[in-house]
Amino acid sequence: MCRTPGMPCKKKSYPVDLPVASVVICFYNEAFSALLRTVHSVVDRTPAHLLHEVILVDDNSDFDDLKGELDDYVQKYLPGKIKVIRNTKREGLIRGRMIGAAQATGEVLVFLDSHCEVNVMWLQPLLAVIHGDPHTVVCPVIDIISADTLAYSSSPVVRGGFNWGLHFKWDLVPLAELGGADGATAPIRSPTMAGGLFAMNRQYFNELGQYDSGMDIWGGENLEISFRIWMCGGKLFIIPCSRVGHIFRKRRPYGSPEGQDTMTHNSLRLAHVWLDEYKEQYFSLRPDLKTKSYGNISERVELRKRLGCQSFRWYLDHVYPEMQIPGPNARPQQPIFINRGPKRPRVLQRGRLYHFQTNKCLVAQGRPSQKGSLVVLKACDYRDPTQIWIYNEEHELVLNNLLCLDMSETRSSDPPRLMKCHGSGGSQQWTFGKNNWLYQVSVGQCLSVVDTLGPKGSVAMAICDGSSSQQWHLEG
Ligand code: UDP
Ligand code: MN
Repeated sequence: MCRTPGMPCKKKSYPVDLPVASVVICFYNEAFSALLRTVHSVVDRTPAHLLHEVILVDDNSDFDDLKGELDDYVQKYLPGKIKVIRNTKREGLIRGRMIGAAQATGEVLVFLDSHCEVNVMWLQPLLAVIHGDPHTVVCPVIDIISADTLAYSSSPVVRGGFNWGLHFKWDLVPLAELGGADGATAPIRSPTMAGGLFAMNRQYFNELGQYDSGMDIWGGENLEISFRIWMCGGKLFIIPCSRVGHIFRKRRPYGSPEGQDTMTHNSLRLAHVWLDEYKEQYFSLRPDLKTKSYGNISERVELRKRLGCQSFRWYLDHVYPEMQIPGPNARPQQPIFINRGPKRPRVLQRGRLYHFQTNKCLVAQGRPSQKGSLVVLKACDYRDPTQIWIYNEEHELVLNNLLCLDMSETRSSDPPRLMKCHGSGGSQQWTFGKNNWLYQVSVGQCLSVVDTLGPKGSVAMAICDGSSSQQWHLEG
């Protein structure tokens, strides 16, 4: 089933004279069917006059069907606009996209992962914004395709942020950013992009320095290009009326050729080029990396000078003022969230967090006052105050009036824990969605019970799939 964008989006119309797009899809050992789903959705759901070409970049995959069979398929069923480029060695997605972009001739570049399904009217809203301002880079809302069932479901509109471990995270959109003249359909300023899916004027992509070709395989390039866009005079938006589904996998099914940690290598490069004094925030979390080598960055430093880019401090102040900055770089008048003092967020709901499937309640594993404690399912006890959660206007879940349910920002694969409420969103923001799911904003996943039959009833974050192990109710 495909969920079409909401009513306000349906009412929008777009100019006919939009720029044409080259869609670049880079893949490495992708499932043939997933790749075809991506390509067919693009061909079927893009007006022919706007689709200049689709460029498939095979990053030296080993799968046999991605070779001759893919060529045959394209020739037989998708003649005309599809071009296949083969890398003779594995380049990684960053150089892979650059290779694809170098072959493109459309006015706008659209990058997609190789396991997507674009929704109806996905492209026009993106092109319309770029048409209005070629220095604006735009991302669709990324809907969820379940890796288990391949079913498509819509996701809430959130925007991109990051943490000082230099990991991307999702944030709720601050109220101030919503509700312009166009209401829920207006573009949303986003401090960062998730990376896989975006559109950008091709000439602007080149002027702005494409990507850092010293980055390998996967990781970090999304923050790098986000910082570069904002700091060097551009803008980055999420466009609520454009939706593209993406298969979120539980883990990445490939490594790097020599087993290097490319995320760290790439993050180090971006920290040294773009973060100025704020790279210390990263190193204070990862002291082991202070002396680690990261290759030659002189070209990127030169690029930053040539483009006359702003400081990282400017970026934090103007684009991401919500970011908390601990330590010596702290903002002088930073509101103190840690001890919020008298300004407590308004309580929206209070009660036990009930899990339908097991008929149990979510409680602290140890004492509810223990920082870092895990949460587990236990028999509901209606007289026990330590089972009471508060859900407040900041979207926090506070147990026993003490600690907040928190997805640690540096170890996103860990289960949630109880931590001091920090009031800066992201890792402590939860929303109750359709199907009674409890959605964690920064990781974009749902609270789920792992061993529903076991006595421990442990919880973990998982892709939202509407299953009964993910259904919760806060009851008074
Ligand atoms: N990719 C690639 N070469 C690589 C690694 C990834 O071409 O060495 C492709 C991959 O097939 C996908 C895109 O880059 O189309 C993004 O990678 P992935 O989906 O694994 O990243 P995630 O969505 O998990 O962040
Ligand atoms: Mn992907």
